[in-house]
Amino acid sequence: MKGTDKANAGRWRWLSGGRQRRQEEIILMLLCALSVPSILPFGIYRLLQGAWLSAAVDLAMVIGMSVVIVHVWRTGRYQVAGLVVTIFYSSGMLATVYMRGVSLVYWVYPTMIAAYFVLRPAVALAINSFGLVVLVCILVSRLEVVNLMTIVVTIGLVNLFAYIFSHRTGLQNKALHTAAELDFLTGVGNRRAMERRLAEHAQERRPHLESSLLLLDLDHFKQVNDQYGHAAGDKVLIRLAELMRRHTRSSDYIFRYGGEEFAIMACGAGLSAAERLAEGLRAAVASSTLLEGHPITISIGVAYMDKDHAPADWLAQADKMLYAAKQGGRNAVRVAEEVAT
Ligand code: GH3
Ligand code: MG
Ligand code: MG
Repeated sequence: MKGTDKANAGRWRWLSGGRQRRQEEIILMLLCALSVPSILPFGIYRLLQGAWLSAAVDLAMVIGMSVVIVHVWRTGRYQVAGLVVTIFYSSGMLATVYMRGVSLVYWVYPTMIAAYFVLRPAVALAINSFGLVVLVCILVSRLEVVNLMTIVVTIGLVNLFAYIFSHRTGLQNKALHTAAELDFLTGVGNRRAMERRLAEHAQERRPHLESSLLLLDLDHFKQVNDQYGHAAGDKVLIRLAELMRRHTRSSDYIFRYGGEEFAIMACGAGLSAAERLAEGLRAAVASSTLLEGHPITISIGVAYMDKDHAPADWLAQADKMLYAAKQGGRNAVRVAEEVAT
């Protein structure tokens, strides 16, 4: 880890309570936390004025948001919480307009924009559209048509712009994410993608779905580069990735985690299925022409992704098996009996 990364990690650890948090969790908690300085003073003011119902709505919102912060902080679950917060905020805002009149309609704008920070754009738009219909029902008898239309049109535009902005940001994030996790040469996942996927698998609560990890290394690849040049070596890597794609299922994951080292996460494959896959790949590489005039072979180490162990253990075990395959003369598959501790 570089120095700046370390400094950043330290800064976020305070917010994360010791574990890595998703950006969405932090945004949701910050939005809820904002309700304290933005709503609490009004609640207290109305309490002092004796406007009990309005004060109760304001204070209920503050308490509700505080509960959500604690929930998200402790569990890390933000999706349902985001939906609850939006519905809660929207209802509170509509109740306030209903009780205190049209001057409170200014609150509708930030509340509706906040929905796009915590929900998918389509969901935020749906909830806000419903909120707008309710708002019109509340105000229709209290405002002249032209004033009501102004509110409807401005709220509609705010939602349209927020929707477009949120949708575009989502697409850009997705594109950035894909680019950051793609191996430029072969088009398979890179090492970062592999580490993320393995960590996700370790956290998945589906112990019945067994999976195995294959580590592949080209045999005597340095010779290929020395004899035919680096560009020819690159072509072999590209062709090998294509061959792996053809021999794996769409549910499997392929990664290039080193220069000429690949990994396959075979989802739903126990050790014997993974061994068949590895043996099939080894034979396919040995019998195909990845480089004209030069035989190419690979060695493969296989480990079971046992839920009682961590990704580092699976990698270490598969790597140990890969080493054994190399020691055994290369162009070979070795399968771990059990995960080493
Ligand atoms: P072994 O059978 O023991 O694996 O022998 P090896 O020669 O393949 O040794 P090693 O696995 O250490 O291979 C490393 C070589 O892979 C060194 C380098 O020439 C080559 N290599 C690494 N990354 C790339 C790359 O991106 N393109 C090309 N063309 N070659 C690469
Ligand atoms: Mg190597
Ligand atoms: Mg090698």
